[in-house]
Amino acid sequence: MEITVLGAGRCVTGSKYLLACKNFHALVDCGLFQGPAANRRLNWKPLPHAAHAVNAVVLTHAHIDHSGFLPRLCRQGFSGPVYCTPPTKALLGVLLPDSAHINEEEARYANKEGYSKHKPALPLYRMADAREALRRLQPVAFHEWQELHPGIRFRFNRQGHILGAAAVELETKVSGGKRKTIYFSGDIGRYGVPILREPEPYPGSDVLFMESTYGNRFHGDEDPSAVLAEEIRAGLDRGGVILIPAFAIDRTQEILYMLHELMVDGDLPEIPVYLDSPMGIEATALYTRFIAEHDAEMRQYFSEQMNPIFPPNLQVTRTSRDSRKLNSIDGPAIIISASGMATGGRILHHLKLRLPDERNTVLFVGYQARGTKGRRLIEGEERIRLHGQWIPVKAHVSRVSGLSAHADAGELMIWLDRRKREPERVVLIHGEYEAQQALAERLQKELGWDPSIPDLGETLSI
Ligand SMILES: [Zn+2]
Repeated sequence: MEITVLGAGRCVTGSKYLLACKNFHALVDCGLFQGPAANRRLNWKPLPHAAHAVNAVVLTHAHIDHSGFLPRLCRQGFSGPVYCTPPTKALLGVLLPDSAHINEEEARYANKEGYSKHKPALPLYRMADAREALRRLQPVAFHEWQELHPGIRFRFNRQGHILGAAAVELETKVSGGKRKTIYFSGDIGRYGVPILREPEPYPGSDVLFMESTYGNRFHGDEDPSAVLAEEIRAGLDRGGVILIPAFAIDRTQEILYMLHELMVDGDLPEIPVYLDSPMGIEATALYTRFIAEHDAEMRQYFSEQMNPIFPPNLQVTRTSRDSRKLNSIDGPAIIISASGMATGGRILHHLKLRLPDERNTVLFVGYQARGTKGRRLIEGEERIRLHGQWIPVKAHVSRVSGLSAHADAGELMIWLDRRKREPERVVLIHGEYEAQQALAERLQKELGWDPSIPDLGETLSI
């Protein structure tokens, strides 16, 4: 078998691995390149293999950098099955149409402003392509073996990264009745964080494709929930509204959970919490629905008829009319809205309204990439451009660090700890090169492994 790295090779987006075995071709993950324009241009590059000749796709999880190329693949003629876990299928029902909408909007905007080199500017894909991609989804339960092709089967193991996230354990028959296993880690989640079950340990395999996003990082000892409480209390003392920009999937639910616990324990007063993100509302409903994915504490809450991510003091605003009504709130209140890095979405309206008032608080709860408005705000810029207007930053801007859906370097080692056998070959994927080199060094020193770090386009013979 040959495996070609078509994405997330020495970078963190565009996850796509093409498996080729005689006349059979499959993709593990089918993600979009995101971030700077140079990255996003890679989404337009033709695949080395015709889309209609790809027989199947296996998805580790719903994040767009792992799934968002699927509508493009369908547009190019792919018509095979796309296997994923049932919660991933449900999340994609929200994420793929949203991604198509963003692509269509961007093309429309580029045509209006005339900044595209292409005339007319075209979207990478349209809503119809996203709908077609959704029709291709075939849910496969965790731990159930699924035939991918005669002689090749796989199963999903829980990875705790976001709802439905899985590792892919792929088994192929080789001569003499023997089997070889290739293990794709997908994105590896955290230990001891609320809501979802922990990642299942790596069992051992012949070949291991392992993510390395935080191969050189430690998330820290600080308790994010304690910092959250402290920041909110300080915000309440200032007498304004507390805005929390949060990613709609996973971070929003984690914050809701923490707020609920803090209020139940009396660490925070019971103040109104508003969730102003249509995708965040949908995702919260799905996190509630898939109870088999809940960890012990979450199950305990449910057995006591409590839903910590949808508590009684939570109000959701689906329509933009309801969202606008939040403008008249004069505190104390918490408004959670997307996007988490203030790159778009309803949070921009709230920032525009709340930033000029020093009583208000803006609390970031996730990583802020270079060049985003979120990054500029936490770096202390005194004014910021929102919807074409310069807005003075008078509100208190702060952050809660240590929240992440990805295992840090230490947790990556824990994930490997319970293996029953050593891999013959280890391939590091999904990480910036620096992080990957640090992890490779650690794996070499602590486990005696010699991992490779393939670049984009590299083909490995397995
Ligand atoms: Zn992910």
